[in-house]
Amino acid sequence: MTLDERTCPICESRFTPKAISSLTCGPVCSKKAKKTREAVKAYNEGRKDITSATLERAMRLLEADEIISAAKAQREAQRPQRVLLDDECEDEAEDRRWRNAYARRQAIERKWMLDWRYAKYRLTLRYLSEGKRLPVWATPRIVEKARAAYPDGIPDDA
Ligand SMILES: [Zn+2]
Repeated sequence: MTLDERTCPICESRFTPKAISSLTCGPVCSKKAKKTREAVKAYNEGRKDITSATLERAMRLLEADEIISAAKAQREAQRPQRVLLDDECEDEAEDRRWRNAYARRQAIERKWMLDWRYAKYRLTLRYLSEGKRLPVWATPRIVEKARAAYPDGIPDDA
């Protein structure tokens, strides 16, 4: 199965993914992607500040993650259903363990995405309160959602 061309979330060039889970165009961008996730994690944990450039990259990473999830879901749906034989039970148990581990990872990533979304809202509100020009990703919809998420402004400890 050939995979559709994707846009690298880091350098924004087009590339043909080697595998269904290929996120970036190559090892250099892959390293940068990892650094971006670490930067957002550090920001979410209040350890470091974040630049809007990093946040924009993180947004593109999130979109790329969603494209990979969609491709995986599609492949899963196309896989033919089989009737299991007795000697395949072992395989099935292994498969189930793998699926459980995958589900756990997905749950962690969902939480991370949610944390990240709120980090974006807080950054938007901070830009507004400091009277700075809003970055391109801070669309009117984001501003509206940020205000809804923090009706009393950003809490001091956030
Ligand atoms: Zn790239």
